[in-house]
Amino acid sequence: MPEQNINFHGSWIELSEAALRSNLSFLKRLIGARTKFASVVKGNAYGHGIESFVPLAERCGVRFFAVFSAHEAARVTAVRKSKSDIMIMGDVPDPAIPWAIEHGVSFYVFDLRRLNRAVKAARKIGHPARIHLEVETGFRRTGFESEQLARVARIIADAGNSVVVEGACTHYAGAESIGNFVRIQNQIASFGRQVDKLRELGVDPRALHTACSAAAINYPETRMDLVRCGIAHYGFWPTSETRMQYFMSRRSRKQGDPLRRVMSWKSRVMSTKRVPQGKFIGYGITYQAPRRMKIATVPVGYYHGFSRSLSNLGYVLIRGERAPVVGVVNMNMFVVDVTDLNGVRAGEEVVIVGCQDGSEISVSSFADMTNYLNYEVLVRIPMDIPRLVV
Ligand SMILES: *Cc1c(COP(=O)(O)O)cnc(C)c1O
Repeated sequence: MPEQNINFHGSWIELSEAALRSNLSFLKRLIGARTKFASVVKGNAYGHGIESFVPLAERCGVRFFAVFSAHEAARVTAVRKSKSDIMIMGDVPDPAIPWAIEHGVSFYVFDLRRLNRAVKAARKIGHPARIHLEVETGFRRTGFESEQLARVARIIADAGNSVVVEGACTHYAGAESIGNFVRIQNQIASFGRQVDKLRELGVDPRALHTACSAAAINYPETRMDLVRCGIAHYGFWPTSETRMQYFMSRRSRKQGDPLRRVMSWKSRVMSTKRVPQGKFIGYGITYQAPRRMKIATVPVGYYHGFSRSLSNLGYVLIRGERAPVVGVVNMNMFVVDVTDLNGVRAGEEVVIVGCQDGSEISVSSFADMTNYLNYEVLVRIPMDIPRLVV
């Protein structure tokens, strides 16, 4: 990554190793020793940065990474230090299939086209394709219909050593929301039937895996051989409902939140300025100074994923106090009100997400203000902001 020297950047992301270790140990205790843990690092590791996060996670004992695309898999391959497993859950363009096979990267197969191409490529290379059969259980996005399984089994039998069925899998249609309870229960049952059918047809997947964070936390029966955990190991609850369900299901609610935010996002005051009463601040007329004010500019804008919907709504921490955004968020900067903070100067630390002097801004408060999901706020943080492990 170019320009990782944070002195040249308007903001930076800190990744807390202690927080990650603590989340991993909570999640591993939850899922038990017999279930493997896959760290989901799609979406640039949920905005944490694949190049920084993967080596950090490996240092914390993670040996299995799941990504969406071949492109992300290549990024993980380039930075992993241990021979960690890599699994692609989504897009593998045809030209990437031989690459995945050669590098021992496993990938989802959810239609006959990909299955046939994988077999063909594996034969040519002389190396097995490691595949995960995704079956349809009610999500209706990708996955083999049950009527297709006989055909799938035949192709796999004919492929001999060219194919290793690493897994059979599915994904739930919203395990983070109790409103989907019945749909999830139906999916769990359907998955069981599909796996039985595969086995009757002579296909014996090495691992069964269905659970994302929310399912792993609130539907223990979905954990099976492997969980694919994203949002929770970064320290966020998938939704506040998941969190509530978790605490309601425990006898003791005394123990605090078991998840710790791994990421903090920090910046510095770029400049300060006085504004006379009655003057408009920034573009347009969305904010008129109600009194004589002191403002500070922060060199972060919607280009950096600080949404325009935080205009006149968001806030940051300076000296542990809330400084509200005034006016509209620009492409590269926004303005905050520091009138009541004594003598704020250029160069002072600004916390966009994280803690400062006992105060905290969580990604969820951010998400609540903008109506984005935690997930969406995180992945909007661009790649070129430096990431530091602390
Ligand atoms: C993103 C994803 C996950 C992880 O979801 P979290 O809610 O972040 O834990 C698991 N499985 C699949 C197929 C996914 O796409």
